Amino acid sequence: MIWGGFLASLFFCLYLLHVMSTLGFSHLKQKYSHFITPDCQIDCDHGWSRLLEDLCAAINLLMSSDPIYVNFRISSIKQKFGVLMIEYNSSDELIQEIIDFTHTLSYNTCEICGQEGKLHASLRWSKWSSYKTLCNTHAVRFRYYEINLMKGKGVK
Ligand SMILES: [Zn+2]
Repeated sequence: MIWGGFLASLFFCLYLLHVMSTLGFSHLKQKYSHFITPDCQIDCDHGWSRLLEDLCAAINLLMSSDPIYVNFRISSIKQKFGVLMIEYNSSDELIQEIIDFTHTLSYNTCEICGQEGKLHASLRWSKWSSYKTLCNTHAVRFRYYEINLMKGKGVK
C-alpha cells in the first residue's frame, strides 16, 4: 500500500515535470511562429532546448537570407526511439543538413539536462518509449541502462 502511494506520487511528479518541460518550449513556438506551425507539438525534455534553439536560429537566418525558403514549415518535434525527430516540408539540401546535424547531436545529448549523453533503455516502460538519451547521472536516477544499438549511426 505504501509503495503504491509512493509510486503514484512519483509518477505524478514525473508527469508534472514532463508537462512543465514541454510548456517550456512555448517561447520557441512564439519566436519562430513564421515556420513552426501552430499545431506543432514539441514533445521532448528540456535538455534538448539548446539544440532546438540553435536549430531554429540557423533556419531563421537561412530563411531571412533567401525568399525561396518562405514556405518552409516544421510540423512536429519529438523524441522517438531516444533521439530527436523533426517533421518538416522541405527537400532542400541546406535545410536537411541543418536538421540532420541537430538530429545527430541529440544522439550525444542528455534529454533531461543537456550534458553529454548516450542512448539508454529502461525495461520499466512499454516498448515504444523505452529508449532515452541520458547522461550517467540521469540514467542512474531514472534506472536506465546503457545500450549500443545505434553503432555506426552517429554514436561514438
Ligand atoms: Zn542529464
